[in-house]
Amino acid sequence: MGMAPAELLSFDAALERVLQAAATLQPPAVERLPLLAALGRVLAAPITADRDQPPFDRCTRDGFAVRATDAVAGAALRVTGSLRAGQAWSGQPLQPGCAIGIMTGAPVPPGADAVVMVEHVQRHGETLHLAADRTWHRGENIVPQGSEAAAGAQLLAVGSELAAPEIALAAACGLQHLSVYRRPRVAILATGDELVEPGTASSLLPAQIWNSNSFGIAALVMEAGGDAVRLPIARDTRDELRATLAQCREADLIVLSGGVSMGEFDLVEEVLAEHQAQFFFTGVRMQPGKPVVFGRLGGLSDRPGPYFFGLPGNPISTQVTFRCFAAPLLRALAGGVVAGPCFAQATLEEEVAARPGLTRVLPARLTSRYDGSTVRLVAWQGSGDQAAHARSNCYAVLPAARESLCAGERISVLLR
Ligand code: AMP
Ligand code: MG
Repeated sequence: MGMAPAELLSFDAALERVLQAAATLQPPAVERLPLLAALGRVLAAPITADRDQPPFDRCTRDGFAVRATDAVAGAALRVTGSLRAGQAWSGQPLQPGCAIGIMTGAPVPPGADAVVMVEHVQRHGETLHLAADRTWHRGENIVPQGSEAAAGAQLLAVGSELAAPEIALAAACGLQHLSVYRRPRVAILATGDELVEPGTASSLLPAQIWNSNSFGIAALVMEAGGDAVRLPIARDTRDELRATLAQCREADLIVLSGGVSMGEFDLVEEVLAEHQAQFFFTGVRMQPGKPVVFGRLGGLSDRPGPYFFGLPGNPISTQVTFRCFAAPLLRALAGGVVAGPCFAQATLEEEVAARPGLTRVLPARLTSRYDGSTVRLVAWQGSGDQAAHARSNCYAVLPAARESLCAGERISVLLR
């Protein structure tokens, strides 16, 4: 089998290839789930307003419903009743010179067109004295019926990700179940002769290490809305790689770790190529993560081939490249919008050396304050330093075009 043609792309070009692939995906299968089980999923059918929102002119303060024309500074009004949330006014419309006690969330009674807050009145028996130092306008403290949404209006479009606000909105429409996209299945395949699966040995030989990447990748997959399937470790032999890869054909996405960096035993690309793989890139001018591979296996008669990422084995390279490239594709496979990873801007706390020609995505610590955010790199021993990685809370992005960056510069930060 011939090896894949090597194509080393810039960071931006590589991300563009991923997003191009993401844009061609067919919508995933749909399932119906109870509301809370849909948390983190992507909506497959729009949610529309079951009635006007709000369904009545909603009072937003505890106070007194009045006619705005009566609500002049220092006026005295007569209280003719009171209304709580959950009660609709059944009496006569509010008469001139009168007021009705009303609580937050209650429907404003007919005839009233403003609510005076309880803090702005003094009540003596039936008589209400409005504050002398204020005026009130029409509509004050009232949200008109249908002003948030008219009955039947679309509140959430297909493709919306369901977090707490969306779940609450669905409940506000009386929905108990939602149509959502099935989670994409992601097969996770760690390669390496040195790896031992946690739990399968009581101790390690000096040159062995625990397989941590399968767990790190699985956690990232779950965060991005996928179903993670961890496969057995594949040793660095053609036969083991072939056998394990054969178990991945049902997956929507295969994420391999290790074995892509052109070392003597790096057979991953070779074995992928045996599956009529198409390679979209075989390296990215970034650090860490340069050997990252993206492609798609050839299809079988009954289904298109799964996409795959071959991520470098060094755990921080693995996680950085997953976040930059695999996570956006996974979001799209889950039916979500096609978009790159989420970056923010922060002020660099101290000078850092960049690597001209390489986009660096380095573990960093973001301090977010209400008046701005600053970022500093975390000291580390390189892309195998998982302890340093766990002390970071974001990645600082150092552009390929720069030799160094100064303290006080605004830089991009990859959020997590
Ligand atoms: P590779 O990309 O296979 O050349 O691996 C690069 C480095 O990452 C080596 O130090 C490996 O031991 C380490 N590594 C590879 N796979 C894993 C894994 N699954 N868990 C933890 N470390 C790994
Ligand atoms: Mg290896």
